Amino acid sequence: CGIVGYIGARPAVPVIMDGLRRLEYRGYDSAGIALGGADTGLSIRRASGKLRNLESSLSLNPLQGDYGIGHTRWATHGRPSETNAHPHRDCTGSLVVVHNGIVENYCELQDQLKAKGHFFLTETDTEIIAHLIEQEYLDLRERNDGDAAPSLEKAVSQAVKKLTGAFAIGVISTDDPGKLVAARSGPPAVVGFGDGEYFLASDVPGILQYTRDIVFLQDGDVAVLTRSGISFSDFHGKPLKRSPQHITWDP
Ligand code: GLU
Repeated sequence: CGIVGYIGARPAVPVIMDGLRRLEYRGYDSAGIALGGADTGLSIRRASGKLRNLESSLSLNPLQGDYGIGHTRWATHGRPSETNAHPHRDCTGSLVVVHNGIVENYCELQDQLKAKGHFFLTETDTEIIAHLIEQEYLDLRERNDGDAAPSLEKAVSQAVKKLTGAFAIGVISTDDPGKLVAARSGPPAVVGFGDGEYFLASDVPGILQYTRDIVFLQDGDVAVLTRSGISFSDFHGKPLKRSPQHITWDP
């Protein structure tokens, strides 16, 4: 029920964990985090129960990475457990997704993806989003004749057009490193502008301690966060102009 993402020069884990803690009021039953890094690839850690369970797992065995996404889950499909906690992976393990909301057509999409050889490890509706993006990535690559590698945002845009229901998602992939992609249709999502650092959260209090310059994503927005800024487009890839507003209130 909470999402936090970070890309910038600070160590990502404390920023993400701090943000998740500030979103605890939204309620949750488990939590997880995924980090991407030039030397470390993609690493994931999840824990059921309170955030402190994830924190102690991370302090016993720290994760390395330069940027990442974190999630607190309020289970709707699949019981609360470490296996069902986000982030969820695709088959290759190179792409991870965090999600707030409900995918209504997940059974139908799961059948289609199973027919294409995808296998599923969890009982969640969210896991299909990871596989759907992976499949779009493969399809785009095939259409490009393997020439140019498709961008992660292109694969995400293609995938979210097929979802019905409600979603705010955050995605990272080792196929397109140094990038965090977010998309929204329903549940709130915000992005924040810092000095050479950029933030994603499901609500303002998750990132307000780092930046007050915030864009509230609108339904149908895709945001791409890199170390050099944030760009916006719609689900068809058409660029959008979104200017940050300065938040003067405190939660
Ligand atoms: N429907 C998803 C699940 O059950 C997301 C729940 C949430 O918004 O935390 O895992």
